Amino acid sequence: MDSLPTILGTATHCPYCALQCGMNVVQTEGGWDIASRDFPTNRGGLCRKGWTAAELLSSPDRLTTPLVRDRKGGPLRPATWDEALDRVAAGIRAIQAAAGPDAVAVFGGGGLTNEKAYALGKFARVALRTANIDYNGRFCMASAAAAGLRAFGMDRGMPFPIADIAAADCLLVSGGNPAETMPPIMQWFDEGRGHGAHLIVSDPRRTATARAATLHLPLTPGTDAALANGLLNVAITRKLIDPDYIAARTDNWDRVRRTVASYWPDRVERITGVPARDVERAAVLLGEAARAEGGRAIILSGRGTEQQSHGVDNALSFINLALALGLPGRAGSGWGCLTGQGNGQGGREHGQKADQLPGYRLLNNPQHRADVAAVWGVTPESLPQPGLSACELLAATGGADARIRGLLVFACNLLVSAPDAEALRARLDAAELLVVADPFLSETAAIADVVLPVAQWAEEDGTMTNLEGRILLRRKAKAPPPGVWTDLQVIAGLASRLGAGAHFTGNAESTGDEFRRCTSGGMADYAGASWDRLPAEAGVFWPCPDELHPGTPRLFLDRFAHPDGLARFHPVEHRGPAEQPCADYPLILTTGRVMGQYQSGTQTRRVPELAAAEPGAYAEMHPDTARQHGLLPGDRVTLSTRRGTARMAVRLTRDIRRDTVFVPFHWSGEGSANRLTIAALDPVSRIPEYKACAVRLDRAPKETA
Ligand code: SF4
Repeated sequence: MDSLPTILGTATHCPYCALQCGMNVVQTEGGWDIASRDFPTNRGGLCRKGWTAAELLSSPDRLTTPLVRDRKGGPLRPATWDEALDRVAAGIRAIQAAAGPDAVAVFGGGGLTNEKAYALGKFARVALRTANIDYNGRFCMASAAAAGLRAFGMDRGMPFPIADIAAADCLLVSGGNPAETMPPIMQWFDEGRGHGAHLIVSDPRRTATARAATLHLPLTPGTDAALANGLLNVAITRKLIDPDYIAARTDNWDRVRRTVASYWPDRVERITGVPARDVERAAVLLGEAARAEGGRAIILSGRGTEQQSHGVDNALSFINLALALGLPGRAGSGWGCLTGQGNGQGGREHGQKADQLPGYRLLNNPQHRADVAAVWGVTPESLPQPGLSACELLAATGGADARIRGLLVFACNLLVSAPDAEALRARLDAAELLVVADPFLSETAAIADVVLPVAQWAEEDGTMTNLEGRILLRRKAKAPPPGVWTDLQVIAGLASRLGAGAHFTGNAESTGDEFRRCTSGGMADYAGASWDRLPAEAGVFWPCPDELHPGTPRLFLDRFAHPDGLARFHPVEHRGPAEQPCADYPLILTTGRVMGQYQSGTQTRRVPELAAAEPGAYAEMHPDTARQHGLLPGDRVTLSTRRGTARMAVRLTRDIRRDTVFVPFHWSGEGSANRLTIAALDPVSRIPEYKACAVRLDRAPKETA
């Protein structure tokens, strides 16, 4: 037999995080491999998740036929696509006939391409006519997005190119750990350190990022706003703020100035646990960089600050600091968010959010409804009003008495990623119809009534928008396995069975053409970003309203997006987490990610090298904390909260506060962090409080070890 004649390579992007590193997918004699590729975000670098991503393409766990369950509790069995889609359509019709259109809901994902996120939102509003669609970005970037909208009038997580990080003289990362979550980004920080830049990191743990910092601020989980207010208090006292910028480019400064006046460093130390001298030093490092002639400073926000029941306020408090120092809208300086999911930015712009239409338009705006309805060929009146946000949607899901009786899930493993996971499992078990589209039998797919096997990232074309707001084209490197459909084909197949087939092509490029037209004139305007304008070497930043427009790498240089062109200060008071430690649950649980796994682990737990590197959950704690609870190295521990229990290995480190326990959230079963977390929601972003709840530790019985 002839060997393969050539090595083929397709210039595409990593399937995982929002850095969207450029890579080549290469066909080899034995299957598929990854080769590095120069791209502005990663400059050839990849983390171990990226290097091993090709393993997913030939994974033995791959689903290649639809699965259906003949009765609740019965086994899943293979079915044809016609049988599976007919079953889903019949279930939808029966539920909607009995309980109305809103009784069927859709749950999307921040990993979907822009075209899929767009089509899913349109499917919900045009084919299902349900108000209830939301997505897992609500678990992730929602607080930063809401804060950006409030402060700047526009939400683009990072309103400047990533290369600005390297040029900054001082960076403050609040609640982020990019050295583990997106390692190639650290080359930009390293370049900055090469010219003497300072890095300040606020985090309850001394993470890999904090270890690279000039100054680590180990705050108590849930005290971010107090810390930010304290930094601003010092900046005012030391005359490091920018009065001219405040006067010319902002509104509402006086209220913030009065609010932070009571956050003097000693008080901030009592609230946050960060020594007052370090609060002073951080403010001076940041403020002096901002004030120096030609100086540049950047504040970057991560999930530690945002995934709280006061996540929007927390993000706003750091934006207040950035505005007072005159950073946003100044070339080379600013405030930005380290978006997590691969298409976390684009996925929140084009209609899979509960309140939103494509182009960051809003369902409750009559003009926006009319604009989108005209492109869709429907009447504005036929579009539903805003629906329930993610956690509220899931809380309303269940059996015959529930508001939502049928749920269609795309690109999301809810049983691992949603808070209070055991309560959610009971609700999903009780749902009349649970449908999951996924390449793998995730924990959520395993309890579904119908499972639809769909293509992976390298098996279809589509655009993504990375953490900088850069639209890039992710090219198809190979065909999906026989029997596997794309999400767009699934959406079109279901729409046709529901009488709305004329509105959906199932084709990525034609969906993209329509999607861009639909964004025209919206805040997130992609109209000029046609696929042939997205070179593999760079992509294009939105807004890009027409084919001749060069794109917009830097926002707010002349004006902010509020009608008066001014940015808004928002006074923020410190409020603690919804659940405080007590005698029964004396410690603070915080959750997060590790370098070798990604989100719910549906993909990365199936990559042998990654599974070997980080095979299961663990509870990270200070040795003194372990000793106080009778725990020794090598022990297993039972973690208990008011919602459930989990068991896992003990891991000791001095790089964590004594009052805090960290558990990564990538695993299911007894190692599931989200059995423990609380679904307390931010009142604005509706993000759940993954970063702080009260927990108790007990040595696990020997027999469970
Ligand atoms: Fe790059 Fe993120 Fe992929 Fe790692 S996971 S290779 S940082 S895109």
